[in-house]
This record gives sequence, C-alpha cells and structure tokens, in this order.
Amino acid sequence: MKKHVDYIIVGGGISGCVLSYTLMKYGASVVVFDLPKNNKCSTVAAGLWNPVVLKRMKKVWKADDMMDELHTVYPDMERWTASQFFDPIAIRRVFHNAGEQNTWMELCDSPAFSSYLEDSISPLPEGVVGEFESGQMKGTGRLNVLGFMEAVHAALRKEESFREERFDWNAVVRDSEGVDYQDLRAHAIISCQGAQMALGETDVLQQGFAPVKGEVIRVKLDAPLEKECIHQKHFMLSEGNNEVTVGATYAWDGFGDGPTQEKKNELEEHVSKVWNGSTRTLDHKSGIRPATKDRRPMVGPHTLAHTWIFGGMGSRAVLMAPYLAKVLVEHFMYGTDLLAECLPSRFS
Ligand SMILES: Cc1cc2nc3c(=O)[nH]c(=O)nc-3n(C[C@H](O)[C@H](O)[C@H](O)COP(=O)(O)OP(=O)(O)OC[C@H]3O[C@@H](n4cnc5c(N)ncnc54)[C@H](O)[C@@H]3O)c2cc1C
Repeated sequence: MKKHVDYIIVGGGISGCVLSYTLMKYGASVVVFDLPKNNKCSTVAAGLWNPVVLKRMKKVWKADDMMDELHTVYPDMERWTASQFFDPIAIRRVFHNAGEQNTWMELCDSPAFSSYLEDSISPLPEGVVGEFESGQMKGTGRLNVLGFMEAVHAALRKEESFREERFDWNAVVRDSEGVDYQDLRAHAIISCQGAQMALGETDVLQQGFAPVKGEVIRVKLDAPLEKECIHQKHFMLSEGNNEVTVGATYAWDGFGDGPTQEKKNELEEHVSKVWNGSTRTLDHKSGIRPATKDRRPMVGPHTLAHTWIFGGMGSRAVLMAPYLAKVLVEHFMYGTDLLAECLPSRFS
C-alpha cells in the first residue's frame, strides 16, 4: 500500500523550505527529499533581503509584493519551527560620488521609495573608510539561512516529511493521475534543485538557467562594527564578535572549482580599502546561484507530466521565495494565474 502525499519536493534549500511550508499552510501534504551536505548555494548565502538594486537605484521586480509576503512568511515560519532566524537590519549604502547622494535625496521623498530609504544622509560608522557619506535603508534584513534550513528540516522530520537522500528521477513512474516514487503516491513532483537543474547534476534539466558563481569571506576585524550591512562595491555584513561576512563576487565559469584565490584576493583587497584597521580572514566559501538568462525566476510546469519547477531566483531567493510560493500554491489550490514572465516554457 503506497503512502499518499500531495506533493514531492526535491531540494530543501531556501526555495524548497519556503515552498513546503506554504503548501502545508494551505493544507497540502509534502515529502521533501534533500541532500543538505551537497547544498553549495543556500549554505553560502549571506541571507540579505533588499528590495532595491543599489547600484542602479531601481526597485527589484515586484519588490513591494515580495516585501509584504516576506514580512509575513518568515515570522510565521519562526513560530512554526519555534526558532529564530528572521533578523531585520539596516543596509547602509556608502555613496561613491555626490551624484549618488543627490539621487538618494530625490528618491527618498518619492512614494515608490519612501518606505525603503531613510530621508537623511549619515556619516560612516567608526572604522569604515569612504570619501562620501551614506544613506540607510528601511525594511531590509538578513535571514540566518543555515539556522532557517536546520529548523525547517527538523520541523519536517517531526512530521515524517523529510528524507535525507538523493531523489532519483529515473525511478519515477507517471500515469494519468500522478506519480509513484518508492513507497509514495503523489499528485505531482516539484523540483527546487537550484542551479543543479542547469549543471547536469539532475535528470530533470531545464533550459534558460544561466548559473552565476559567487564567493564570500568571513573576516575578523580589530574593532567592533555596528549591527548592520555596509554596501560599497561589495557588502560587509556584521556577524557580531568583531566578525563580518564580505562578498559577494560574480563569475560565469569555474563552477566545479570551489573557492578561488583570485576572488579571495579581490575580497581581501576590498576589505583593506574600506576598513581602517587590521583584519584576518577566517573562512572562504563559494556557491552557484540559480540565475536565469532573463533574470526572472522559474516557476511553473516542466515538460514532463506532473512535474513543476520552483527556483531560478538568482541572488534573491530570500526576498522572492515567499511571494512566488504563494503564487504557485494558490495556482494549485484555486486555479489562479501563474506569472507569465516566470513560466519555464518561455525558454522552450
Ligand atoms: C556567495 C553567495 C551569496 C549569496 N547571498 C545571498 C543573499 O544575501 N540573499 C539572497 O537572497 N540570496 C543570496 N544568494 C543566492 C542564494 O544563495 C540562492 O538564491 C538560493 O540559495 C537558491 O536556493 P534554492 O533552494 O533555489 O537552491 P539550492 O540552495 O541550490 O538548493 C537546492 C537543494 O536541492 C538539493 N538537491 C538537488 N538535487 C537533488 C536530488 N536529486 N535529490 C535530493 N536533493 C537534491 C541540493 O542538495 C540542495 O540542497 C547568494 C549566493 C551566493 C553564491
């Protein structure tokens, strides 16, 4: 006798965790398959959420909807898991020239930006070096991604909904009503496999992904930094205990190489320019972002029957996943429209 479950979810990174919670909130049952030790992306993420692309001072696509959903979902997930991982903190933009400072002052009064930008310019915190002053953001923060995933996996385990094993797509049997896999009978399977959908590490490949490698370093400073994230060319995120995470870099190759000396040098050079004191690198990590060719996420049906994709969130999974999960789950539950710009079929 098969165990009936509504959805099998493959992948327990940020996407899989948020989606499984959302499905359960709407009354569906799930079983999540994940290989947490293989997860090179969500475990590396700094976990920041920010509705504004600071380099261009443009709002992220659907930023307002995403911010609303994020501020509901993660606190709800904290209650569900009885854990803490949602940490609102300011992101400080250090201006590179007077023009950037003027743009900030113009935008902070506009209705589109006033809820995200403080309407004053402030001096740099002690120890931080820069030619110009800075502006602080509102509503931003960081998800402690490792703590978040650990808490969600534990909560799923309690409900016998988490299996720490490789999902073998070749062993799926499909019929007109759904799928059979091992002891499970499910309505559908949802792939939340991140960049692995593009790197040939899964049997369900999807066109349109354009993975981007990123690296971060953890650095010990010689003095404390306020609890905030400082954004110049790279970000410097205060982790307490005089430690900061500095990143991230971008590369479009070398996916199998792991952390590189070249990017470590780039980040260390950055720290030496922006911090007025001595520093020591403690750790260095890399991951591969599940970005797409048109920078829109990937949410919708795969060409295989009863198979769906939820991912492609590039460097913004923390911000995007709660809103996109709601869109997908409400489509399943109520037949509401999916987002045309996110359909995987746009690349076929
Ligand atoms: C250096 C760096 C810094 C970043 N900083 C941020 C940030 O500050 N804020 C932010 O929002 N984003 C950030 N990102 C991006 C963020 O990490 C990604 O958007 C996010 O991790 C993607 O999550 P995911 O769940 O879609 O994929 P993944 O995290 O890759 O998860 C996929 C999971 O699927 C599992 N899996 C795959 N195949 C199988 C299988 N066959 N069976 C079982 N399990 C399987 C994998 O083991 C993995 O656990 C950063 C990325 C990098 C590299």
